[in-house]
Amino acid sequence: MPYRRTLREEFPEAVPVGTYLDRVSAALDPLDFVPERTFAAVSVCRDELTEHFTEHVADRWNRPFMLGGLGAVPSLGRTGWQAALSHVPHEGGRGHLIVFGLPHVGIDPEGRLGQSLRRHQNRPTPTCGAMVATLRALQEGVEPPTPGLDDHEADRLRRLVAELGEGPPADLVELTRRACAAVEAEMWAELEALAAWKDMDVAVFCGIQIHVPHRDDHIWHSSAAVQGADGTRQPLPLAK
Ligand SMILES: [Zn+2]
Repeated sequence: MPYRRTLREEFPEAVPVGTYLDRVSAALDPLDFVPERTFAAVSVCRDELTEHFTEHVADRWNRPFMLGGLGAVPSLGRTGWQAALSHVPHEGGRGHLIVFGLPHVGIDPEGRLGQSLRRHQNRPTPTCGAMVATLRALQEGVEPPTPGLDDHEADRLRRLVAELGEGPPADLVELTRRACAAVEAEMWAELEALAAWKDMDVAVFCGIQIHVPHRDDHIWHSSAAVQGADGTRQPLPLAK
């Protein structure tokens, strides 16, 4: 199948979402992230395709708080982060918070990256319209906004990824990887600003959610780190 080759070439380390979350659980188990007393928050794009990941998270850690706007950039602002942190269980001691940040990309049945064939449609369309628009804006320049229209999520996504590299990204994969780094930086900036670690252990996992035809979504893992009661942030290796 052509999509398998694309997946192997572009994201050779990607694994099905269940395998990825098994690895996350295994890394967190020794750190006392007991599922019953752990709260999850998820930053994924608004696209309905991304809910596959959210459902898997809900199966393990109960329904998560949704952080994400277009491109998986957290869009809830300081007030929203405060609300999310206030939902973390605290019975029995310190709270435990897991945060996931995952921009997404698709592969269509012909193996084209960035395209997805959606239900009851007869031709593939861009998986992430926000990423496609951002790539075009960065490569070709930004058109002035239409007066009276607010596009703040797309504007913020574009600004954050533009700050992360020299010049425009070459393609959708580079842009999505940059978005992944931007999401991670945003999440830690908010968590640090609110000093979440004083009340709870915090673990942040970032990567890319990849939609493939006829199979579970795959996850390309980019980073994981945990912050405990002493406030230091430690990388958290995931098993291979
Ligand atoms: Zn999207």
